[in-house]
Amino acid sequence: MLLRVCCLYRVSTTAQADHNDIPMQREACQEYAREHGLWIIKEYQERGISAFKTPAEDRDALQKLREDALERRFDILLVFMFDRIGRRSDETPFVVEWFIKHGIRVISVKEGEQILDSHTDRLLNYIRYWQGEGESQNTSLRIQTRLRQMHQEGYYTGGPVTYGYRLVYTGRRNKKGKPVQDLLICDEEAAIVKEIFARTVSEQIGTTTLANDLNQRDLRTRAGAKFQCRTIKSILQNRAYLGYIIKRDVSSPHIPILQIIDETTFEKANQILTKRSVATVQRRSIPRKGKPALLSAILFCGICGHRLSTSRPAENSRRNKTQYVCPICRKAQLVECGQSTYTAETVDSMVLRQTSTLLNLFTAHSEDSLRKALEKKHKVVRQRLQEEKDRLESAKAELSKRENEVVRVLDGRSKYTAKELSALIHEQNTICNRLSGWVDRLNDQNQHLQYISRNLSFLYATVLRWKRILPTATEEEQREILRELYQRVEIQRGYAINLNLTSYYSFFLSCTGESKKSVCSVKP
Ligand SMILES: [Zn+2]
Repeated sequence: MLLRVCCLYRVSTTAQADHNDIPMQREACQEYAREHGLWIIKEYQERGISAFKTPAEDRDALQKLREDALERRFDILLVFMFDRIGRRSDETPFVVEWFIKHGIRVISVKEGEQILDSHTDRLLNYIRYWQGEGESQNTSLRIQTRLRQMHQEGYYTGGPVTYGYRLVYTGRRNKKGKPVQDLLICDEEAAIVKEIFARTVSEQIGTTTLANDLNQRDLRTRAGAKFQCRTIKSILQNRAYLGYIIKRDVSSPHIPILQIIDETTFEKANQILTKRSVATVQRRSIPRKGKPALLSAILFCGICGHRLSTSRPAENSRRNKTQYVCPICRKAQLVECGQSTYTAETVDSMVLRQTSTLLNLFTAHSEDSLRKALEKKHKVVRQRLQEEKDRLESAKAELSKRENEVVRVLDGRSKYTAKELSALIHEQNTICNRLSGWVDRLNDQNQHLQYISRNLSFLYATVLRWKRILPTATEEEQREILRELYQRVEIQRGYAINLNLTSYYSFFLSCTGESKKSVCSVKP
Protein backbone atom coordinates (compact mmCIF):
# COMPACT_ATOMS: atom_id res chain seq x y z
CA MET A 1 0.00 0.00 0.00
CA LEU A 2 1.25 3.47 -0.79
CA LEU A 3 1.84 5.56 2.31
CA ARG A 4 -0.29 8.69 2.40
CA VAL A 5 1.55 11.89 3.10
CA CYS A 6 0.49 15.34 4.25
CA CYS A 7 2.99 18.13 3.81
CA LEU A 8 3.27 21.26 5.92
CA TYR A 9 5.09 24.23 4.46
CA ARG A 10 5.71 27.20 6.63
CA VAL A 11 8.00 30.19 6.81
CA SER A 12 9.90 29.84 10.03
CA THR A 13 11.27 32.82 11.86
CA THR A 14 13.78 30.70 13.67
CA ALA A 15 15.32 29.47 10.47
CA GLN A 16 17.97 31.21 8.50
CA ALA A 17 16.89 33.29 5.57
CA ASP A 18 17.87 30.80 2.88
CA HIS A 19 15.80 27.61 2.60
CA ASN A 20 12.94 29.55 4.08
CA ASP A 21 10.55 30.13 1.22
CA ILE A 22 7.56 27.95 0.62
CA PRO A 23 8.19 27.03 -3.04
CA MET A 24 11.63 25.73 -2.05
CA GLN A 25 10.15 23.66 0.80
CA ARG A 26 7.47 22.33 -1.52
CA GLU A 27 9.98 21.27 -4.13
CA ALA A 28 12.17 19.57 -1.55
CA CYS A 29 9.24 17.68 -0.03
CA GLN A 30 7.89 16.58 -3.39
CA GLU A 31 11.27 15.35 -4.46
CA TYR A 32 11.61 13.43 -1.22
CA ALA A 33 8.20 11.85 -1.76
CA ARG A 34 9.12 10.85 -5.33
CA GLU A 35 12.38 9.29 -4.23
CA HIS A 36 10.77 7.33 -1.41
CA GLY A 37 7.65 6.27 -3.26
CA LEU A 38 5.30 8.27 -1.05
CA TRP A 39 1.93 9.57 -2.07
CA ILE A 40 1.24 13.22 -1.25
CA ILE A 41 -2.48 13.56 -0.65
CA LYS A 42 -2.59 17.05 0.85
CA GLU A 43 -0.37 20.05 1.17
CA TYR A 44 -0.82 22.66 3.86
CA GLN A 45 0.90 25.98 3.86
CA GLU A 46 1.07 28.96 6.09
CA ARG A 47 2.80 32.21 5.62
CA GLY A 48 3.13 35.59 7.19
CA ILE A 49 2.27 34.77 10.78
CA SER A 50 4.93 36.16 13.01
CA ALA A 51 6.38 33.93 15.67
CA PHE A 52 5.94 34.22 19.42
CA LYS A 53 2.39 35.41 18.93
CA THR A 54 0.24 32.46 18.08
CA PRO A 55 0.71 29.09 19.73
CA ALA A 56 0.03 25.97 17.72
CA GLU A 57 -3.64 25.67 18.55
CA ASP A 58 -4.41 28.98 16.89
CA ARG A 59 -3.15 27.96 13.56
CA ASP A 60 -5.54 26.50 11.07
CA ALA A 61 -3.17 24.28 9.15
CA LEU A 62 -1.93 22.47 12.22
CA GLN A 63 -5.44 22.17 13.55
CA LYS A 64 -6.61 20.57 10.31
CA LEU A 65 -3.63 18.25 10.29
CA ARG A 66 -4.51 17.15 13.79
CA GLU A 67 -8.09 16.46 12.77
CA ASP A 68 -6.90 14.47 9.76
CA ALA A 69 -4.55 12.53 12.00
CA LEU A 70 -7.35 11.65 14.40
CA GLU A 71 -9.40 10.40 11.45
CA ARG A 72 -6.40 8.42 10.19
CA ARG A 73 -6.57 10.18 6.83
CA PHE A 74 -2.79 10.05 6.35
CA ASP A 75 0.26 8.10 7.51
CA ILE A 76 3.15 10.51 7.31
CA LEU A 77 3.61 14.19 8.11
CA LEU A 78 6.37 15.47 5.88
CA VAL A 79 8.08 18.79 6.54
CA PHE A 80 11.22 20.46 5.32
CA MET A 81 12.62 20.83 8.83
CA PHE A 82 11.10 20.02 12.21
CA ASP A 83 11.04 23.67 13.20
CA ARG A 84 8.35 24.14 10.55
CA ILE A 85 5.93 22.28 12.79
CA GLY A 86 5.92 24.25 16.02
CA ARG A 87 6.00 27.95 16.36
CA ARG A 88 8.03 28.18 19.50
CA SER A 89 10.97 26.12 20.62
CA ASP A 90 9.10 24.71 23.58
CA GLU A 91 6.18 23.67 21.45
CA THR A 92 7.71 21.75 18.54
CA PRO A 93 8.68 18.62 20.50
CA PHE A 94 5.22 18.26 21.95
CA VAL A 95 3.52 18.66 18.60
CA VAL A 96 5.87 16.11 17.03
CA GLU A 97 5.25 13.81 19.96
CA TRP A 98 1.50 14.24 19.58
CA PHE A 99 1.55 13.11 15.95
CA ILE A 100 3.80 10.13 16.66
CA LYS A 101 1.64 9.05 19.57
CA HIS A 102 -1.37 9.22 17.28
CA GLY A 103 0.27 6.83 14.86
CA ILE A 104 1.55 9.38 12.36
CA ARG A 105 5.17 9.16 11.28
CA VAL A 106 6.88 12.54 11.25
CA ILE A 107 9.62 12.98 8.68
CA SER A 108 11.80 15.96 7.91
CA VAL A 109 13.51 16.16 4.52
CA LYS A 110 16.56 17.66 6.21
CA GLU A 111 16.67 15.69 9.43
CA GLY A 112 15.02 12.37 8.63
CA GLU A 113 12.37 10.57 10.64
CA GLN A 114 11.73 11.35 14.28
CA ILE A 115 11.39 8.19 16.31
CA LEU A 116 9.95 8.38 19.79
CA ASP A 117 11.40 5.88 22.17
CA SER A 118 11.11 5.99 25.90
CA HIS A 119 13.76 8.68 25.95
CA THR A 120 11.55 11.58 25.05
CA ASP A 121 13.98 13.83 26.83
CA ARG A 122 16.56 13.14 24.20
CA LEU A 123 14.17 14.36 21.56
CA LEU A 124 13.41 17.48 23.53
CA ASN A 125 17.06 18.26 24.06
CA TYR A 126 17.86 17.58 20.48
CA ILE A 127 15.17 19.85 19.17
CA ARG A 128 15.93 22.58 21.67
CA TYR A 129 19.54 22.42 20.67
CA TRP A 130 19.09 23.13 17.01
CA GLN A 131 16.29 25.57 17.60
CA GLY A 132 18.35 27.57 20.03
CA GLU A 133 21.16 27.64 17.57
CA GLY A 134 19.01 28.80 14.68
CA GLU A 135 17.32 31.36 16.82
CA SER A 136 20.47 33.06 18.01
CA GLN A 137 21.80 33.34 14.49
CA ASN A 138 18.58 34.89 13.46
CA THR A 139 18.27 37.29 16.34
CA SER A 140 21.57 38.91 15.54
CA LEU A 141 20.43 39.28 11.96
CA ARG A 142 17.19 40.85 13.10
CA ILE A 143 18.98 43.28 15.37
CA GLN A 144 21.33 44.37 12.64
CA THR A 145 18.47 45.05 10.27
CA ARG A 146 16.53 46.91 12.91
CA LEU A 147 19.53 49.01 13.89
CA ARG A 148 20.01 50.07 10.32
CA GLN A 149 16.37 51.03 10.11
CA MET A 150 16.51 52.99 13.34
CA HIS A 151 19.52 54.85 12.09
CA GLN A 152 17.67 55.84 8.96
CA GLU A 153 14.60 56.83 10.91
CA GLY A 154 16.44 59.06 13.34
CA TYR A 155 16.47 56.93 16.50
CA TYR A 156 13.20 57.55 18.26
CA THR A 157 10.75 55.20 16.60
CA GLY A 158 7.62 55.64 18.65
CA GLY A 159 6.29 53.90 21.70
CA PRO A 160 6.23 54.93 25.35
CA VAL A 161 8.98 57.20 26.61
CA THR A 162 11.09 55.85 29.46
CA TYR A 163 10.94 57.65 32.81
CA GLY A 164 13.79 60.19 32.83
CA TYR A 165 13.35 61.27 29.21
CA ARG A 166 11.11 63.58 27.22
CA LEU A 167 10.27 64.14 23.57
CA VAL A 168 11.27 67.42 21.94
CA TYR A 169 10.89 68.88 18.47
CA THR A 170 14.47 69.65 17.53
CA GLY A 171 13.74 70.84 14.03
CA ARG A 172 14.63 67.50 12.48
CA ARG A 173 12.35 66.37 9.68
CA ASN A 174 11.68 62.89 8.37
CA LYS A 175 11.87 61.70 4.77
CA LYS A 176 8.42 63.11 4.06
CA GLY A 177 9.47 66.50 5.41
CA LYS A 178 7.35 66.25 8.55
CA PRO A 179 8.93 67.55 11.77
CA VAL A 180 9.69 64.66 14.12
CA GLN A 181 10.47 64.46 17.81
CA ASP A 182 13.72 63.38 19.38
CA LEU A 183 14.43 62.00 22.82
CA LEU A 184 16.22 64.16 25.35
CA ILE A 185 16.89 63.82 29.05
CA CYS A 186 14.19 65.24 31.33
CA ASP A 187 16.22 66.88 34.10
CA GLU A 188 13.81 66.52 37.04
CA GLU A 189 13.10 62.85 36.35
CA ALA A 190 16.73 62.09 35.60
CA ALA A 191 17.60 63.43 39.06
CA ILE A 192 15.23 60.89 40.61
CA VAL A 193 16.70 58.07 38.51
CA LYS A 194 20.19 59.06 39.67
CA GLU A 195 19.00 59.13 43.27
CA ILE A 196 17.48 55.64 42.96
CA PHE A 197 20.74 54.22 41.65
CA ALA A 198 22.92 56.12 44.11
CA ARG A 199 20.96 55.10 47.19
CA THR A 200 20.72 51.48 46.06
CA VAL A 201 24.48 51.31 45.63
CA SER A 202 25.72 53.38 48.57
CA GLU A 203 23.02 52.86 51.18
CA GLN A 204 21.84 49.43 49.96
CA ILE A 205 18.26 50.58 50.45
CA GLY A 206 15.58 48.09 49.39
CA THR A 207 13.20 48.77 46.53
CA THR A 208 10.11 48.95 48.78
CA THR A 209 11.68 51.49 51.12
CA LEU A 210 12.80 53.57 48.17
CA ALA A 211 9.32 53.52 46.64
CA ASN A 212 7.71 54.57 49.93
CA ASP A 213 10.21 57.38 50.33
CA LEU A 214 9.52 58.75 46.83
CA ASN A 215 5.77 58.52 47.36
CA GLN A 216 6.00 60.42 50.64
CA ARG A 217 7.69 63.23 48.77
CA ASP A 218 4.63 63.31 46.48
CA LEU A 219 6.59 62.10 43.50
CA ARG A 220 4.69 60.08 40.92
CA THR A 221 5.50 57.94 37.89
CA ARG A 222 4.92 59.09 34.33
CA ALA A 223 1.43 57.59 34.46
CA GLY A 224 0.67 59.50 37.64
CA ALA A 225 0.74 56.39 39.79
CA LYS A 226 2.58 55.78 43.05
CA PHE A 227 5.98 54.14 42.87
CA GLN A 228 5.99 50.41 43.60
CA CYS A 229 8.94 48.17 44.38
CA ARG A 230 8.41 46.75 40.88
CA THR A 231 8.78 50.20 39.31
CA ILE A 232 12.03 50.80 41.17
CA LYS A 233 13.35 47.40 40.17
CA SER A 234 12.57 47.93 36.51
CA ILE A 235 14.31 51.33 36.62
CA LEU A 236 17.39 49.72 38.13
CA GLN A 237 17.41 47.08 35.39
CA ASN A 238 16.76 49.39 32.45
CA ARG A 239 19.84 49.60 30.25
CA ALA A 240 18.32 52.63 28.52
CA TYR A 241 19.82 54.81 31.27
CA LEU A 242 23.27 53.90 29.99
CA GLY A 243 22.46 55.85 26.82
CA TYR A 244 20.64 53.43 24.54
CA ILE A 245 17.26 53.44 22.91
CA ILE A 246 15.87 49.98 23.53
CA LYS A 247 12.81 48.57 21.93
CA ARG A 248 11.95 44.99 22.70
CA ASP A 249 15.14 43.05 21.99
CA VAL A 250 16.69 45.73 19.83
CA SER A 251 19.18 48.21 21.17
CA SER A 252 20.50 51.29 19.38
CA PRO A 253 24.16 52.18 19.28
CA HIS A 254 25.40 54.17 22.27
CA ILE A 255 24.02 57.74 22.32
CA PRO A 256 26.10 59.78 24.80
CA ILE A 257 23.59 62.62 25.22
CA LEU A 258 21.01 60.15 26.54
CA GLN A 259 23.25 58.61 29.23
CA ILE A 260 22.00 59.21 32.78
CA ILE A 261 23.84 56.47 34.68
CA ASP A 262 27.47 55.35 34.25
CA GLU A 263 28.31 51.70 33.63
CA THR A 264 29.96 51.11 37.01
CA THR A 265 27.00 52.33 39.04
CA PHE A 266 24.62 50.35 36.83
CA GLU A 267 26.60 47.11 37.25
CA LYS A 268 26.87 47.55 41.03
CA ALA A 269 23.15 48.20 41.40
CA ASN A 270 22.34 45.11 39.38
CA GLN A 271 24.74 42.93 41.32
CA ILE A 272 22.91 43.99 44.47
CA LEU A 273 19.55 43.16 42.85
CA THR A 274 20.75 39.72 41.76
CA LYS A 275 22.04 38.90 45.23
CA ARG A 276 18.68 39.86 46.69
CA SER A 277 16.71 37.77 44.24
CA VAL A 278 18.91 34.73 44.89
CA ALA A 279 18.22 35.18 48.59
CA THR A 280 14.48 35.42 47.86
CA VAL A 281 14.49 32.24 45.80
CA GLN A 282 16.33 30.38 48.55
CA ARG A 283 13.84 31.59 51.10
CA ARG A 284 10.95 30.69 48.87
CA SER A 285 12.09 27.19 48.06
CA ILE A 286 11.29 26.07 51.61
CA PRO A 287 7.65 26.95 52.15
CA ARG A 288 5.87 28.45 49.20
CA LYS A 289 2.59 30.20 49.10
CA GLY A 290 -0.05 28.05 47.44
CA LYS A 291 0.30 24.54 46.10
CA PRO A 292 2.98 23.89 43.49
CA ALA A 293 2.10 22.46 40.13
CA LEU A 294 2.89 18.91 41.03
CA LEU A 295 1.67 17.30 37.84
CA SER A 296 2.66 19.90 35.31
CA ALA A 297 4.82 17.57 33.23
CA ILE A 298 2.49 14.59 33.05
CA LEU A 299 -1.04 15.99 33.14
CA PHE A 300 -2.98 15.87 29.88
CA CYS A 301 -6.44 16.86 28.76
CA GLY A 302 -8.68 13.81 28.52
CA ILE A 303 -10.73 15.48 25.81
CA CYS A 304 -8.23 16.77 23.28
CA GLY A 305 -5.04 15.12 24.53
CA HIS A 306 -3.11 18.34 24.91
CA ARG A 307 -0.73 18.86 27.79
CA LEU A 308 -2.26 21.05 30.48
CA SER A 309 -0.48 24.21 31.47
CA THR A 310 -0.24 25.66 34.95
CA SER A 311 -1.84 28.96 35.77
CA ARG A 312 -0.79 30.56 39.02
CA PRO A 313 -2.93 33.34 40.45
CA ALA A 314 -1.71 36.85 39.65
CA GLU A 315 -0.48 38.91 42.56
CA ASN A 316 -3.61 41.02 42.90
CA SER A 317 -6.16 38.55 41.61
CA ARG A 318 -9.15 37.48 43.67
CA ARG A 319 -8.47 33.90 42.67
CA ASN A 320 -5.95 32.44 45.05
CA LYS A 321 -5.60 28.92 43.75
CA THR A 322 -3.27 27.49 41.17
CA GLN A 323 -5.07 25.89 38.25
CA TYR A 324 -4.35 23.42 35.50
CA VAL A 325 -5.67 24.67 32.18
CA CYS A 326 -6.14 23.04 28.79
CA PRO A 327 -5.23 25.82 26.37
CA ILE A 328 -6.98 24.17 23.44
CA CYS A 329 -10.28 23.45 25.12
CA ARG A 330 -10.31 26.88 26.72
CA LYS A 331 -9.75 28.62 23.41
CA ALA A 332 -12.14 26.45 21.47
CA GLN A 333 -14.67 26.85 24.26
CA LEU A 334 -15.75 23.31 23.78
CA VAL A 335 -18.45 23.75 26.36
CA GLU A 336 -20.34 20.71 25.26
CA CYS A 337 -17.16 18.66 25.64
CA GLY A 338 -16.54 19.74 29.17
CA GLN A 339 -14.13 21.46 31.36
CA SER A 340 -10.87 23.22 30.58
CA THR A 341 -9.82 24.43 34.04
CA TYR A 342 -9.09 22.39 37.15
CA THR A 343 -8.01 23.42 40.63
CA ALA A 344 -4.50 22.09 41.08
CA GLU A 345 -4.95 21.37 44.75
CA THR A 346 -7.89 19.06 44.12
CA VAL A 347 -6.22 17.21 41.23
CA ASP A 348 -2.94 16.81 43.11
CA SER A 349 -4.55 15.41 46.22
CA MET A 350 -6.72 12.98 44.23
CA VAL A 351 -3.72 11.69 42.35
CA LEU A 352 -1.61 11.41 45.49
CA ARG A 353 -4.34 9.53 47.31
CA GLN A 354 -4.76 7.03 44.48
CA THR A 355 -0.99 6.69 44.18
CA SER A 356 -0.80 5.62 47.76
CA THR A 357 -3.58 3.04 47.12
CA LEU A 358 -1.65 1.72 44.12
CA LEU A 359 1.62 1.45 46.04
CA ASN A 360 -0.15 -0.45 48.79
CA LEU A 361 -1.60 -2.80 46.20
CA PHE A 362 1.78 -3.41 44.60
CA THR A 363 3.49 -4.17 47.87
CA ALA A 364 0.69 -6.42 49.12
CA HIS A 365 2.51 -9.12 47.18
CA SER A 366 5.98 -10.35 48.06
CA GLU A 367 8.81 -10.03 45.60
CA ASP A 368 8.79 -13.81 45.29
CA SER A 369 5.17 -14.03 44.26
CA LEU A 370 5.70 -11.21 41.77
CA ARG A 371 8.63 -13.07 40.29
CA LYS A 372 6.49 -16.19 39.95
CA ALA A 373 3.75 -14.23 38.22
CA LEU A 374 6.34 -12.67 35.97
CA GLU A 375 7.80 -16.02 34.98
CA LYS A 376 4.38 -17.40 34.24
CA LYS A 377 3.62 -14.43 32.02
CA HIS A 378 6.98 -14.62 30.35
CA LYS A 379 6.47 -18.29 29.58
CA VAL A 380 3.13 -17.57 27.92
CA VAL A 381 4.64 -14.79 25.82
CA ARG A 382 7.62 -16.92 24.78
CA GLN A 383 5.27 -19.73 23.80
CA ARG A 384 3.02 -17.46 21.77
CA LEU A 385 6.03 -15.88 20.14
CA GLN A 386 7.24 -19.28 19.01
CA GLU A 387 3.77 -20.20 17.72
CA GLU A 388 3.42 -16.99 15.75
CA LYS A 389 6.91 -17.39 14.34
CA ASP A 390 6.01 -20.88 13.14
CA ARG A 391 2.79 -19.65 11.61
CA LEU A 392 4.67 -16.85 9.89
CA GLU A 393 7.17 -19.35 8.45
CA SER A 394 4.47 -21.55 6.96
CA ALA A 395 2.54 -18.53 5.67
CA LYS A 396 5.71 -17.35 3.96
CA ALA A 397 6.24 -20.80 2.45
CA GLU A 398 2.69 -20.72 1.11
CA LEU A 399 3.29 -17.26 -0.32
CA SER A 400 6.37 -18.34 -2.26
CA LYS A 401 4.48 -21.41 -3.47
CA ARG A 402 1.79 -19.13 -4.88
CA GLU A 403 4.39 -16.82 -6.35
CA ASN A 404 6.03 -19.74 -8.10
CA GLU A 405 2.70 -20.62 -9.62
CA VAL A 406 2.95 -17.42 -11.70
CA VAL A 407 5.23 -19.16 -14.22
CA ARG A 408 2.72 -21.98 -14.63
CA VAL A 409 -0.07 -19.46 -15.21
CA LEU A 410 2.01 -17.87 -17.94
CA ASP A 411 2.61 -21.29 -19.50
CA GLY A 412 -1.08 -22.09 -19.26
CA ARG A 413 -0.30 -25.09 -17.04
CA SER A 414 -1.96 -23.75 -13.88
CA LYS A 415 -5.45 -24.48 -12.67
CA TYR A 416 -5.76 -20.76 -11.77
CA THR A 417 -6.32 -17.80 -14.04
CA ALA A 418 -3.93 -14.86 -13.68
CA LYS A 419 -6.62 -12.88 -11.90
CA GLU A 420 -7.38 -15.61 -9.41
CA LEU A 421 -3.72 -16.15 -8.64
CA SER A 422 -3.07 -12.47 -8.13
CA ALA A 423 -5.94 -12.37 -5.64
CA LEU A 424 -4.52 -15.41 -3.86
CA ILE A 425 -1.07 -13.83 -3.65
CA HIS A 426 -2.51 -10.61 -2.38
CA GLU A 427 -4.46 -12.44 0.28
CA GLN A 428 -1.43 -14.41 1.42
CA ASN A 429 0.64 -11.25 1.52
CA THR A 430 -1.86 -9.67 3.88
CA ILE A 431 -1.69 -12.71 6.15
CA CYS A 432 2.11 -12.57 6.22
CA ASN A 433 2.09 -8.88 7.08
CA ARG A 434 -0.37 -9.40 9.90
CA LEU A 435 1.61 -12.28 11.33
CA SER A 436 4.89 -10.45 11.18
CA GLY A 437 3.19 -7.57 13.00
CA TRP A 438 2.27 -10.02 15.75
CA VAL A 439 5.75 -11.42 15.90
CA ASP A 440 7.20 -7.92 16.26
CA ARG A 441 4.82 -7.07 19.07
CA LEU A 442 5.47 -10.32 20.92
CA ASN A 443 9.20 -9.79 20.49
CA ASP A 444 8.86 -6.39 22.11
CA GLN A 445 6.85 -7.85 24.97
CA ASN A 446 9.36 -10.59 25.40
CA GLN A 447 12.25 -8.17 25.66
CA HIS A 448 10.28 -5.97 28.00
CA LEU A 449 9.57 -8.86 30.34
CA GLN A 450 13.21 -9.87 30.19
CA TYR A 451 14.14 -6.39 31.30
CA ILE A 452 11.68 -6.47 34.19
CA SER A 453 12.91 -9.88 35.18
CA ARG A 454 16.51 -8.65 35.36
CA ASN A 455 15.51 -5.56 37.35
CA LEU A 456 12.66 -6.87 39.44
CA SER A 457 14.47 -6.58 42.77
CA PHE A 458 15.38 -3.00 42.05
CA LEU A 459 11.88 -2.09 40.90
CA TYR A 460 10.34 -3.75 43.91
CA ALA A 461 12.69 -1.96 46.30
CA THR A 462 11.79 1.30 44.57
CA VAL A 463 8.10 0.72 45.09
CA LEU A 464 8.69 -0.12 48.75
CA ARG A 465 10.72 3.04 49.21
CA TRP A 466 8.02 5.15 47.57
CA LYS A 467 5.37 3.64 49.76
CA ARG A 468 7.45 4.43 52.83
CA ILE A 469 8.31 8.03 51.95
CA LEU A 470 5.12 9.14 50.19
CA PRO A 471 3.15 10.13 53.31
CA THR A 472 5.87 12.58 54.37
CA ALA A 473 7.48 13.23 50.98
CA THR A 474 8.60 16.69 49.97
CA GLU A 475 7.14 18.27 46.90
CA GLU A 476 10.27 17.36 44.94
CA GLU A 477 10.08 13.71 46.02
CA GLN A 478 6.38 13.53 45.19
CA ARG A 479 7.04 14.92 41.75
CA GLU A 480 9.79 12.38 41.17
CA ILE A 481 7.59 9.48 42.23
CA LEU A 482 4.67 10.55 40.05
CA ARG A 483 6.84 11.07 37.00
CA GLU A 484 8.40 7.64 37.36
CA LEU A 485 5.13 5.93 38.04
CA TYR A 486 2.89 7.51 35.41
CA GLN A 487 3.38 7.90 31.74
CA ARG A 488 0.54 10.37 31.68
CA VAL A 489 -2.37 11.41 33.81
CA GLU A 490 -5.51 12.41 31.96
CA ILE A 491 -8.31 14.51 33.33
CA GLN A 492 -11.71 15.54 32.04
CA ARG A 493 -15.05 16.96 33.06
CA GLY A 494 -15.92 16.60 36.69
CA TYR A 495 -12.36 15.70 37.69
CA ALA A 496 -12.56 12.24 36.14
CA ILE A 497 -8.92 11.20 36.26
CA ASN A 498 -7.25 8.39 34.37
CA LEU A 499 -3.82 7.22 35.46
CA ASN A 500 -1.60 5.65 32.83
CA LEU A 501 1.17 3.70 34.50
CA THR A 502 4.56 3.44 32.85
CA SER A 503 5.14 -0.02 31.47
CA TYR A 504 7.14 -1.43 34.41
CA TYR A 505 4.47 -0.53 36.88
CA SER A 506 1.72 -1.71 34.53
CA PHE A 507 3.30 -5.07 35.06
CA PHE A 508 3.05 -4.69 38.83
CA LEU A 509 -0.62 -3.88 38.44
CA SER A 510 -1.21 -6.87 36.19
CA CYS A 511 0.19 -9.08 38.95
CA THR A 512 -2.23 -7.81 41.57
CA GLY A 513 -5.26 -9.22 39.79
CA GLU A 514 -6.98 -5.83 39.95
CA SER A 515 -8.38 -4.44 36.71
CA LYS A 516 -6.90 -1.28 35.32
CA LYS A 517 -10.28 0.34 35.28
CA SER A 518 -10.94 -0.22 38.95
CA VAL A 519 -7.72 1.31 40.25
CA CYS A 520 -6.56 3.70 37.54
CA SER A 521 -9.80 5.61 37.04
CA VAL A 522 -10.51 8.04 39.81
CA LYS A 523 -13.48 10.27 40.46
CA PRO A 524 -13.98 12.71 43.27
ZN1 LIG B 1 -8.36 19.90 25.98
